[in-house]
Amino acid sequence: MPTTAYNPFENAQAQFDNVAEYLKLDEGMRELLRQPMVEMHFAIPVKMDDGSTKVFRAFRFRHNDARGPAKGGIRFHPHETADTVRALSMWMTWKCAVVDIPLGGGKGGVICDPHNLSRSEQERLCRGYVRQLYKQMGPNSDVPAPDVMTNAQHMLWMMDEYETIAGGRYPGMITGKPVGMGGSLGRTEATGFGVIFVLKDLLRCLDIPIESTSASLQGFGNVAEYTARMFTELGGKVIAVSCWNQSDKTAYTFKKADGCDIPQLVEIKDSFGSIDKEKALALGYEVLPGDAWLSQDVDILIPAALENQITPAVFPNISEKVKILCEAANGPTTPDCDELIKNRGIMLLPDFLTNAGGVTCSYFEQVQCNMNYFWDKTEVLEKLEYSMTKAFRAVYELSKEKNLYMRDAAYIIAINRVADAVRLRGWA
Ligand code: NAD
Repeated sequence: MPTTAYNPFENAQAQFDNVAEYLKLDEGMRELLRQPMVEMHFAIPVKMDDGSTKVFRAFRFRHNDARGPAKGGIRFHPHETADTVRALSMWMTWKCAVVDIPLGGGKGGVICDPHNLSRSEQERLCRGYVRQLYKQMGPNSDVPAPDVMTNAQHMLWMMDEYETIAGGRYPGMITGKPVGMGGSLGRTEATGFGVIFVLKDLLRCLDIPIESTSASLQGFGNVAEYTARMFTELGGKVIAVSCWNQSDKTAYTFKKADGCDIPQLVEIKDSFGSIDKEKALALGYEVLPGDAWLSQDVDILIPAALENQITPAVFPNISEKVKILCEAANGPTTPDCDELIKNRGIMLLPDFLTNAGGVTCSYFEQVQCNMNYFWDKTEVLEKLEYSMTKAFRAVYELSKEKNLYMRDAAYIIAINRVADAVRLRGWA
């Protein structure tokens, strides 16, 4: 997997620099917006079950909070780096701005592999994270959420630790909590469903019936699962999904040419989004190499796992049939691939617009927590579809009007909104 050759922060900065030039932002504004405003690097000592102490390196960065409290997930990943967190915090700023929610951008991470941690070790790690950051977090300053390999239980442990230290109830300090404990109905589905709200509207604009389309996905975790569920419920066909296999330490692609049965695949995956290879074989799936998802003859490619997956090196493997690249993951495409995508005439749905459903629903969760009044799922999903479709339409219309690449159109809208907030505050 080409994850290490590219630096996501350099990618994020390159994307920003292009648009800053187009918008003729002045030097001070560029300097402010091309890096996080606050970076916290810290160590979390955790008592392991065998009595030893293990120290985990961790990060929390705030890219920009001119439009509201910083918002962004916390990842648990053995290859987490400061530059990945920097890039992700920056993309969160643009993401909140493009869907026009009053939040800024933040991100966190811990270098760890939760596959190798017991439940109680994970709990102590979550509590340790909050103990280190307590003074910098809170509903009005920085609000974390789940991301890769973190889930609702992790968020609840973090909230409990925060409330224990603060001596009160602050459910708005974190989102992605379990329903009934301050979580919002629809949050689990929100990112994946949001991907489909955007894709569905693009297909409508292009006059392509979703029932006639096929897709191939990378990933089968939270985002990919709900993307695939709604896509197939609306009549689309998922031909292949790829995911990581922890015991073989490699990725596989699971393929069914006449369409994967998504609920069936969900039955045989673990909580980390890994599909059981033997069970899949028994159910008649072809098991192919991990990168085979990219070379399928489908209409839509949906990277929904990791960053830096679509590079010039692998781009020629993409089938000529592909019409849409729907970026569900953060940063799945390297900037040097954008020209190739444009030249092939592939329609791009850029990541920070396409996967903004999660943060939009997180915002709804915070609003409900602050009101202490919770909406039913239909209301949440209706509001989500409204916000996602409105954001998509604005980007699509700007791209048509000015003949812009969709990523550039999304950046122009987002960066303009953040730059306006920075100017109004008198920061630059
Ligand atoms: P997850 O941990 O639930 O799932 C990750 C998936 O990627 C798993 O199925 C895993 O097997 C797969 N994977 C890992 N390495 C792989 C490899 N080398 N090849 C193929 N598959 C591989 O994570 P998630 O929450 O679904 O997040 C996926 C992406 O979406 C990330 O880029 C994340 O930052 C982004 N995202 C997530 C949310 C959210 O609400 N969860 C919101 C916005 C963006």
